[in-house]
Order: sequence, then C-alpha cells, then structure tokens
Amino acid sequence: MADSPEDTIAAVATPPGVGGIGVVRVSGRRATAVAEAVLGRLPAPRRAIHAVFRGAEGEVIDDGLALYFPGPRSYTGEDVLELQGHGGPVVLDLLLTRCLALGCRAAHPGEFTERAFLNGRLDLAQAEAVADLIEAGSAQAARSARRALEGALSNQVDELLERLTALRVSVEAALDFPDEDVDILREAQVAERLNALDERLDTLRAGASQGALLREGMRLVIAGRPNAGKSSLLNRLVQREAAIVTHIPGTTRDVLRETVSLDGLPLHVIDTAGLRESDDPVEQEGIRRAWSEIETADAVLLVIDDTLGEGDAEAAMRARFPKSLPVITAHNKIDLSGAAPGERDARIYLSAVTGEGVDHLRAHLKAQTGYAGGEGLFLARRRHLDALDRTASHVANASRALAQSRAPELVAEDLRLAQESLGEITGRFSSDDLLGRIFSTFCIGK
Ligand code: GDP
Ligand code: ZN
Repeated sequence: MADSPEDTIAAVATPPGVGGIGVVRVSGRRATAVAEAVLGRLPAPRRAIHAVFRGAEGEVIDDGLALYFPGPRSYTGEDVLELQGHGGPVVLDLLLTRCLALGCRAAHPGEFTERAFLNGRLDLAQAEAVADLIEAGSAQAARSARRALEGALSNQVDELLERLTALRVSVEAALDFPDEDVDILREAQVAERLNALDERLDTLRAGASQGALLREGMRLVIAGRPNAGKSSLLNRLVQREAAIVTHIPGTTRDVLRETVSLDGLPLHVIDTAGLRESDDPVEQEGIRRAWSEIETADAVLLVIDDTLGEGDAEAAMRARFPKSLPVITAHNKIDLSGAAPGERDARIYLSAVTGEGVDHLRAHLKAQTGYAGGEGLFLARRRHLDALDRTASHVANASRALAQSRAPELVAEDLRLAQESLGEITGRFSSDDLLGRIFSTFCIGK
C-alpha cells in the first residue's frame, strides 16, 4: 500500500539506545483511538497525565506520561499523541509495535516536520531550521538556527515576495493599456521600486551567506613537507593533542580531521600526510587521500619550515594545487629561525611551539572566509543562496527589459520568475522532488 498523508504515523522520537525516558510520537486521525486503546482513555488536551501503557491482551508494557495535542494546534497540525515511557530499546519497540498494530504506519525520517510544513505550521526554511537546531555543533550555530526557526529569514523573504507581487500588479495593469503603458509604468515608479528591491535582495544575500558559512564552515587542508610542523600547528589551532607529533618524518599517515571554532565559525581542518613520494604502501595511501582532500577544500594552508625556507618540494606542491584554490603560506618554527612573528609579503610567520604569530593566522583565516560573526545571524543553507542569486538575476533582467524595450510583458515575465525563485526558500513554489530531498535528511521521529 502506498504511503498517504492520511496515514497515522508513529515513531520513537528519542535517540536509539538506553535513556532515562523514551518517547513514542503518534500523529494523525488515529491518534485518539491509539490513546484509548493503550491508555484506556483520551488525556485532556495539552495536559500530562500519568498512565499505564497496555498491550493488546491488556498486559502492561510500561507506564509513564502521556500527552495529547488535538490538531490543528499541534506540532504537525494533526492530532498528536506522545507516550513518554522508560528509555529502553525493548520497551520502546514494544510500544511502537503496539501503535503499528493499531493501524499506524512507521514514520519516515522528518515526516512529522514535513506534515507540519504541509499543514502550514512551518514554512520550508523554518522546517530546515528545525533540523539545523538539532544538529547544531556550537552554541552560536544553535542560536542562529533558533533565529531562523523564529522566521529571521522567512519574514524577510515574505516581505520581498509581497513587494514583487505588488510590482507585478502595477506592470500587469499597464499591459491592459498598450497606448499608455510607458506613462503608467513611470507613474507607478516601477524602475525605482525595482532598484529598491534589488538593494534589499543584496542585504538578504549577505546575511544568508554568513548564515550558510556558519552552518557549513570552511574546509582547510594543512599541507607541507614532512616535519614542517603541520601536526603541531593543527594542535595549536585546536588547543589539544589531536595529531601525533614526532620527529620522524612521515608519521601522519592517515588523514586527520578536526573542527576548530573561530568565533563560532566552524573550520574543518584536515591534516595530511607529508605530500612526498614514498615506497611505503601505507604512506602512499595517505598521500593519495591527502590529494583527494585538497580537491574539495576551500583553502590550503601550506606550512614551511622557516629554518629551511621554501624550496623545490613546496614549488612542486604549489604546482599541483588546483588553480582556483587559495593558498595561505605559513612559515613555522620562527623560534628557531629568529624571524619576527606576523604577516609580511602574503606570508605568515609563526611558531607552533611558542604560539607566536598564530593569532595572525586565525585573523587571516577569518578574513579569508569573509566571516563577520556577531549577533543577528541566522542559519542558512546553500539552497537559499542559490535561490536568492536566481531571484536577483531575474530582477536585474526585469530592470533591463524596462530600461531597454519598455515592453511590460517582458518585465512581467521576469517578475514572475523572480517570485518563483524567491518562493522556493519558504516553499511557496517547490517541487515534490525538492521536498523529498530536504525531509529525507532529518532524523526519524522529527
Ligand atoms: P609534520 O610532519 O609536518 O606534521 O610535523 P610535526 O608537527 O610532527 O613536527 C615535526 C617536528 O618539528 C616535531 O619534533 C615538532 O616538535 C617540531 N616543531 C613543530 N613546530 C615547531 C616550532 O614552531 N618550533 C620548534 N622549535 N619545533 C617545532
Ligand atoms: Zn604530521
């Protein structure tokens, strides 16, 4: 039988494993029948009751708290029942099986939130913020996801959509009067309003791009000759012993990943094996992986032993880095070479051992990403940036059509396309395909 939005869905909403409490969540029209069968009664709306949870033969499965949220004032907009029992996997499984026997279907990942979206409880950007809030890796990311959930992005998108609608109305009004269309467009100040819209889009794009950076972070590969001090510098950046530091060249055989927080900005640092020729098969594998990491990085940090200076080995690495990849050059071990810490000639002089000059590196990395940090940030996704870019290009086309040909039908069409692109962010115009991709990345029970 195919899944239907009419199905009542059920899932264990708490993480797998043993916990203090475990929650089974049920949503749909059978929720009340499940309550009556399992609890023997329907709890009063939005009031926790203590109850015994019973199986088909009247046997006790567990006991705990039960909550009933009648639709539409519930998370999904449907009737929702929450059974909070003891957090053992067997007990929760028995309880879920009981719900399924009562005619519920096991929920897909994200299906509760998908229903909340379909029933108009959340827009798409807010639904994504729910997943981001759950997955937030830092307090800054959690605060920003919360802000997105409260509508920091959605409200601005809605406001711009309204402006676009108003503009379309003005332009389409002119279409009805071909002889006076130019006057009508001028009177309605369409050009001025398009400019203002474009400016607002730029501001929103800037905010969303900070939010996307905060969510996705920056991938930084540390490269350099064996013994240049890559692992030591990584440890200095993450402030703990993540990589094994030795004086034997070629120790870092595997690829190590660490996430460092630069004022909330996640920096995914990847320490690579010394990029050199080797006969050792294990080391060769490390080298191969290092190069594949470099292909997908946002920047490379090339570490040079300042007592040796830059030589042929570094020149060979630079030649192999992808052309578009920014390379940050750090001269390490200045405590031995005697160089002063700081940035000179696009090179940063530092010591991983004493820590001198490392703040310059941190500042440089932040500048590299354009990350400003601070309050007022909202979490955003790559998808939102793409939609904003397409919206801006349709608005630019509309302005051009207006200035050049003054053909209102072209302007109207560009405005319609702009509206459609912008509407993708909050889900006003989204394909089922897009929805499937977004909700399938959620955890089950959410
Ligand atoms: P990697 O092979 O590039 O990862 O280099 P390591 O981080 O393993 O360091 C190689 C050796 O250089 C170790 O003995 C480190 O203690 C030493 N080293 C690394 N950075 C510095 C530095 O800034 N100053 C000094 N004096 N020694 C360093
Ligand atoms: Zn190393």
